Amino acid sequence: MARIFCIANQKGGVGKTTTTVNLAAGLARIGQRVLMVDLDPQGNATMGSGVDKRALEKTVYDVLLGEAEVAQARVDSEACGYQVLGANRELAGAEVELVDLPERERRLKQALAAVQQDYDFILIDCPPALSLLTLNGLCCAHGVIVPMQCEYFALEGLSDLVNTIRQVHANLNPELQIIGLLRVMFDPRITLQQQVSEQLKGHFGDKVFDTVIPRNVRLAEAPSYGLPGVVFDAGARGSQAFLAFAQEMVQRVQRMQ
Ligand code: ADP
Ligand code: MG
Repeated sequence: MARIFCIANQKGGVGKTTTTVNLAAGLARIGQRVLMVDLDPQGNATMGSGVDKRALEKTVYDVLLGEAEVAQARVDSEACGYQVLGANRELAGAEVELVDLPERERRLKQALAAVQQDYDFILIDCPPALSLLTLNGLCCAHGVIVPMQCEYFALEGLSDLVNTIRQVHANLNPELQIIGLLRVMFDPRITLQQQVSEQLKGHFGDKVFDTVIPRNVRLAEAPSYGLPGVVFDAGARGSQAFLAFAQEMVQRVQRMQ
């Protein structure tokens, strides 16, 4: 049965999509069966997995509205070794259309239940908002992975997300927990980043993943080739870090059971 994780942080540009596609590719490389679900209308995780969002016949939008099964909408990312439930601009409309539907927060959960035995991991790339789409992700997840940059306002921004996760835990999904905080785009030469990193560990203890993802240009270049860094250049420092992170996730999941 797949373990389901949301990659969430309501801030944009913090590394959610980079984390999602590289973790998916890293897990695939160590033999895990992975489905990557793109819940962001920008479709970056779809394109970044080598899947053309404009060419998709069915997307997560159709799944959320009950117009397609996951099994009909998912596609193979052959280059990356995982499957993709993709998104494109159509998904922006779902926010409004879902409001009047029954079980509006649980529609993704219900849809994924049918394929959960096909995978070891289902990773959900969330949009940069605590919206109904993100709620759908949080409702079906066992855990949330929070990528964050070690910057001055990082801790402040985190409290909104932590509160939302608490509320979802209390009202909608008792299984939900923060599985961990992932330090991304890290530059150890910057003293402030080291200080914030220490603060994070002080505050969240072993919820902070051991793996640190460095700022690395190869990770930033990879999306323009439609690939995660781990596939584009496995030897790059950033890719190596994501491969280590995939191992760390497998170990965390073993401890969760
Ligand atoms: P989000 O999904 O949270 O909006 P992205 O994953 O799209 O964030 O990352 C934002 C930008 O930062 C992208 O251009 C991405 O390529 C770049 N980026 C992400 N992680 C790294 C990293 N570790 N090193 C260098 N660039 C990165
Ligand atoms: Mg993104």
